[in-house]
Amino acid sequence: MTSPSPYDIKRERMVEEQLLPRGIHHSATLAAMRAVPRHLFVEDAMQMQAYGDYPLPIGAGQTISQPYIVALMTQVLQLTGAERVLEIGTGSGYQAAVLSQICERVYTIERIDSLLVRARKTFDKLHYHNIVSRIDDGTEGWLAEAPFDGILVTAGGPKVPEPLIDQLSENGRLVIPVGDQFVQELQVIEKNGGNVKHTTIEQVRFVNLIGAHGWRN
Ligand code: SAM
Repeated sequence: MTSPSPYDIKRERMVEEQLLPRGIHHSATLAAMRAVPRHLFVEDAMQMQAYGDYPLPIGAGQTISQPYIVALMTQVLQLTGAERVLEIGTGSGYQAAVLSQICERVYTIERIDSLLVRARKTFDKLHYHNIVSRIDDGTEGWLAEAPFDGILVTAGGPKVPEPLIDQLSENGRLVIPVGDQFVQELQVIEKNGGNVKHTTIEQVRFVNLIGAHGWRN
């Protein structure tokens, strides 16, 4: 039996100290957070900090979200394994990687080329083959692949983009930070029997969602 690496130990500590005490209980989400090597989604110089209780810079003025927020947004989707999930804001690719462990396929959209190039390299290196990605304005969704069982937006916008509500399947869940450019509320939108229900979970702070149905650049 091989002994755990320092990163394995940090990852387990992240789960025990940051996720479980804050109410992350969805077992598939916890398993994915235990499995995905978060340190490989940040620059070499930051790898030792990758499991800290905070977001980290990933270049181009963007961030990889705090582990707890990644776990919370994943848990909200209540995935069981067969779902197709759309993520807006690939960034480092870490959130997509976590989702890829617990659903059938992840579709992820990023607007900054350099970030997507790096994220794709990481997906390949880790053999995460059920992630499909593209460069575009994610506020328009991904019409050709819609509807989605879950949609997760990892940047904060002034409102919920209408195309994303349209592209959510019946009984699907959409999670998105909505607010001003400094602080947002994490909103969950559920579609049931033609009704669209909004719930607010907690206050968060995300980088800006920039696009036709987000903030103007
Ligand atoms: N999910 C990422 C991760 O795991 O590293 C964190 C992403 S970061 C907080 C938000 C990302 O959303 C940035 O990479 C930013 O470029 C991207 N973004 C902002 N507006 C976007 C849009 N309209 N379409 C696609 N990506 C967008």
